[in-house]
Amino acid sequence: MRENAKHLFLRISKWLGLFHLARLFTGKALRILCYHGFAFRDEADFRPMLFMTPTTFDKRLRFLARHKFPVLRLEDALERLKKNNLPRGATVITIDDGFYGVYSEACPRLQAFGLPATTYVTTYYVQKQAPIFRLAVQYLFWRTALPSIRFHGQTWVRDQEVNLSNSVENKRATWEVIDHGEKHCSEDQCQQIAQELAGILQVDYGWIKTSRSLSLMNSVELGELAARGVDVQLHTHRHSLAVDDEQKVRDEILTNRSVLEKIIGKPLRHLCYPSGIWTREQWPWLEKLDIDSATTCLPGLNYPHTPPLGLRRFLDAENIHSIVFEAEQFGYLEVLRRLRHWIGSVSGRLPAPDRSR
Ligand SMILES: [Zn+2]
Repeated sequence: MRENAKHLFLRISKWLGLFHLARLFTGKALRILCYHGFAFRDEADFRPMLFMTPTTFDKRLRFLARHKFPVLRLEDALERLKKNNLPRGATVITIDDGFYGVYSEACPRLQAFGLPATTYVTTYYVQKQAPIFRLAVQYLFWRTALPSIRFHGQTWVRDQEVNLSNSVENKRATWEVIDHGEKHCSEDQCQQIAQELAGILQVDYGWIKTSRSLSLMNSVELGELAARGVDVQLHTHRHSLAVDDEQKVRDEILTNRSVLEKIIGKPLRHLCYPSGIWTREQWPWLEKLDIDSATTCLPGLNYPHTPPLGLRRFLDAENIHSIVFEAEQFGYLEVLRRLRHWIGSVSGRLPAPDRSR
């Protein structure tokens, strides 16, 4: 990965011993790491925020072990956070969405290092057992080597010529197909569309289906994962949590919970907000549904006063430089965030500079 000024600044900070100072300063706070899918071929090039290569994941786990960050089960960590008696540098590993790669790539590596993890699983595609339509369409448009295509006579997209090397045209056509499928078609019809689209774009849809790189785990794999000690928790049924409709929130969580609890066989009370979208107005609704904790995509460490329904996480990804990961894990980025916040609040209290002179 390319070095930039931020990386250089972090390297100098590390060399000056500031990372270790930050670890001392932030030792009692809880670190929650967040991962998503794992790459089998080129998915980490396609969406580096969503898919991580197993090699990078391995390096992250090795780093945690080498620097003796105690990795705890989510439930234990939250219990101890409340009592303010976490071991120093306590860390929780979370993995969102429930991609098949969690079962095939992440779980064996976690087991090799003896580390616990929580995976938050959406259940619609667990039941459908097909590549996630939205992601498959995006991948097909990204993967094709064709410079341009012509849609003609398809029922699911307008007749048009698309210059694929033009990112605006490419994106517009991608979303036209996704919107049509999601608004007007059944899942079977969506899969038909993806298959047809793959033919037009000359990409092998068979590989996407058989490798299951864009698919979620099935119920047998989820059961096995739980038996191997991975904590399976809630992430809604359709990867969506309304911010203004309690009934929809209820339906999403209860459906998700009923599918997962049948597989896992124990009550599930921990949630991850899909796409990191949430508001405090949802909290009383979640409490009524016996949700004990919910993780966000807000960066930062967690303290005894952090609301359990607004837990902060570090979104680790393939395109996160190792020095940035280290800086976050040692608490150095947290110190910088707090410093910035403090400077902001102090300067906010100072009178505005007189610009008339
Ligand atoms: Zn998600």
